[in-house]
Amino acid sequence: INQELSRLDRLNIIGQIAAGIGHEVRNPLTTIRGFLQILGKKPKYIEDKEYFDLMIEELDRTNNILSEFLSLGKDSSNSLEVHNLNKIIQDLYPLLQADALNSGKDIIVEQQTIPDMELNRKEIHQLILNLARNGLEAMSAGGTLSIQTFMEGEQVVLAVCDEGVGIAADILDKLGTPFLTTKADGTGLGLATCYNIAARHNASIKVETGPKGTTFFVKFKRNE
Ligand code: ADP
Ligand code: MG
Repeated sequence: INQELSRLDRLNIIGQIAAGIGHEVRNPLTTIRGFLQILGKKPKYIEDKEYFDLMIEELDRTNNILSEFLSLGKDSSNSLEVHNLNKIIQDLYPLLQADALNSGKDIIVEQQTIPDMELNRKEIHQLILNLARNGLEAMSAGGTLSIQTFMEGEQVVLAVCDEGVGIAADILDKLGTPFLTTKADGTGLGLATCYNIAARHNASIKVETGPKGTTFFVKFKRNE
């Protein structure tokens, strides 16, 4: 018997834990945030205002981590429907553009005609956002992030390409391991979520990386 858990098994276990406790933790956080907001509007001492703002910021950060963690979990809302990937990217474009512009980078989208596929819209949003944000974060000196769709034989391919620093060789074969991060404020959950979502869509993820940038290819296997 193979004692080692596969990447997918590991992700499934984490996903189950996430789904189990995630929602329970989020409810009290929402309550705390609400009361902090009320108290922070009329603090007893004016200099306390700053502390209330900080507490709310930290709660929001916690909530973001929870959201990423929760998206590792599969739930009944993760159903597949017929969508066009190009349309999903177009809907997401304003958000991506805001992310890019806020950090002084450019973004371009190049789309070929591709067939509709069975997709979960919410998950594909998350997948593209996670890859795009990593790409933007890798370009500290600025640059262009490009998001492409094209056909490779029968396969639909989504490519997210950055002009960033590239991925360090020592973590390349560990990509997708939960909590693996090289960033001071990273969660290390973005790629784990991407691999999980890709697996649920019968898609594979390939990476090409070098000192001039990185491209993540998500290849959707078509089930005929
Ligand atoms: P996080 O972004 O929170 O660090 P991720 O799971 O999204 O976690 O990514 C894990 C790690 O993989 C990152 O910390 C980074 O070292 C590396 N990485 C992912 N995408 C890229 C990229 N486009 N360019 C360079 N490094 C990347
Ligand atoms: Mg990330």
